[in-house]
Amino acid sequence: MNIILIGPPGAGKGTQAQKLVVERGIVQLSTGDMLREAQASGSEMGQKVKDIMARGDLVTDEIVIGLIAERLDSGAAGAGAIFDGFPRTLGQADALGEMMASKGLALDCVVAMTVDDDALVARVTGRFTCGNCGEVYHDANKPPKHANTCDKCDAKDSFKRRPDDNEESMRTRLFNYYRDTSTLIGYYHAKGLLKTIDGLGEIEEVAGRMNVALDG
Ligand code: AMP
Repeated sequence: MNIILIGPPGAGKGTQAQKLVVERGIVQLSTGDMLREAQASGSEMGQKVKDIMARGDLVTDEIVIGLIAERLDSGAAGAGAIFDGFPRTLGQADALGEMMASKGLALDCVVAMTVDDDALVARVTGRFTCGNCGEVYHDANKPPKHANTCDKCDAKDSFKRRPDDNEESMRTRLFNYYRDTSTLIGYYHAKGLLKTIDGLGEIEEVAGRMNVALDG
């Protein structure tokens, strides 16, 4: 199954994608994660996108299309993929359609997750993760049980915050979402692939809605 998750920053795309990976045995293709890995590895491309990402602006279509092409060419998505944070522009959506068609792959469903802007800003500005296992926490909604210790893997002092999870970058990311990415909702609706779910609520509750959208 090949799925695209569309939603504003902080809508919970990554969290739901991780659940789908486990439940459906498909891979998560997150361009945001790939770009953060490129930065962490110190590659030339990683250096080039660092400031753009910290500001909350979009990196070029060429870079992200290249990252997805590499994954599709490697056959990593053989059993299916969840595209998380890609495509974000019409150019990326067209490129993805062409890449998939050339490999005989079909898109099964595009799920748009809706969450109102104030909830998104609150979610993102309080968000932090364990650098060891990736568990996601929140200052107000999900603090760790013991300060500086991950509930899941027990790592100490491993928490980290994304440099773009601050209010100023978040406003830019939201602006870019409404300007460039939300138009894809109409694009996939016109292709008969779109489902919309409410992204507000507990993780399991949203996961239930996701499964209804995908299987219903
Ligand atoms: P994310 O982890 O999806 O929130 O992405 C973090 C940042 O990476 C974004 O704010 C952009 O700067 C960049 N980025 C990730 N995916 C894309 C994409 N498909 N197109 C352009 N920029 C992207």
